[in-house]
Amino acid sequence: TGTRLSGGTGFIASHVLDSLIDHGYDVVVTVRSEEKGRRIEKSIDNALGVQVSFVVVENISDDGAFDEAVQADPPFDYVVHTASPYQLQWEDPVRECLDPAIKGTTGILKSIKAFAPSVKRVVITSSSAAILSPPNHRPVYDETCWSDSTMEQAKDPRQTYRVGKKFAEKAAWDFVANEQPGFDLATINNTYTFGPVPRSLPHLNAVNTSNQRIRDLVEGRMRAGIAPTAPVFTFVDVRDVALAHVRAMTVPLAAPGSRFYVVGGYFSNPRICGIIRAARPELAATCLPPPEADAQDDFPSDHWAFDNSRSRDVLGLQYTSLEKSVVDTVESMLRLGSAA
Ligand code: NDP
Repeated sequence: TGTRLSGGTGFIASHVLDSLIDHGYDVVVTVRSEEKGRRIEKSIDNALGVQVSFVVVENISDDGAFDEAVQADPPFDYVVHTASPYQLQWEDPVRECLDPAIKGTTGILKSIKAFAPSVKRVVITSSSAAILSPPNHRPVYDETCWSDSTMEQAKDPRQTYRVGKKFAEKAAWDFVANEQPGFDLATINNTYTFGPVPRSLPHLNAVNTSNQRIRDLVEGRMRAGIAPTAPVFTFVDVRDVALAHVRAMTVPLAAPGSRFYVVGGYFSNPRICGIIRAARPELAATCLPPPEADAQDDFPSDHWAFDNSRSRDVLGLQYTSLEKSVVDTVESMLRLGSAA
């Protein structure tokens, strides 16, 4: 069975690709250049011998960007759409963030409807940003919750990303409701994601946004003091996120669509630092702040709760611990550092 995976160079996509290969799916990934596509092809471990190839989609904001990428012989059944920019600073928030997030999402759905009638389901990487309503947090969040963020807030560059994710997901549900395409929809609303960096990553400066605090600890950038953890204190391991996408392609959905809130637990920067110190004591001498720093946990005593039962019951997820996630992330970074 064939799949399309958008944003193949991405952190999360690299693990979705591994998981699709492990499950025996043929995959065509979309990437922004030939060179990036070739890096991915070189990096994969394709023991099952499935077909993996790439097509270039330079900018997902462009009209019809995915038209060619979804036309294929033989036809394929599933699409996983992960491509969307994830940074926290923008020069031009609309062009760099909102357009690729929102038009990229509606664009791929339009292309599938127009040119890929064999597709049964589309799985979109949304975000917990489409669920949470900071600073007016609810006591408990689950898939029934929608962020109260507004387009007005997107003008603040620190908010643009999370607002864009909400409106991208909303646009996807509106598309399915209004256009009645031949496919159904699942969204993975994962929280802040840690885990091994992609094997195709050229160097640690290019590490994705959510792994940057672990990279900063490993590279000694917090040696003088641990940066504040806020605003995010929930995490999930990227391999759980990847499995969620692959399982969400085929599980029976209660409705024509379903959201899955994918969150594994709580973290704080001092807890991460303590985990690294215990697992790799040699890093303590060269990179980590003094041990007293780990004791100054800034995890808030009144933190809200999450209900991830749908992801466990329907997708069968068993969440990876913070310890394993951090240690495996650090190992992957050390491997990349020594290869560079
Ligand atoms: P990455 O930055 O590693 O991946 C982003 C991907 O999107 C890259 O493949 C990038 O291509 C591609 N991309 C970005 N903008 C464009 C564009 N204009 N045209 C074409 N391709 C584009 O981030 P993640 O793997 O962390 O994020 C993947 C998805 O997961 C995103 O939708 C993000 O919002 C979502 N998410 C991430 C979370 C996290 O904590 N990491 C949490 C919740 C959701 P290139 O490499 O060429 O730049």
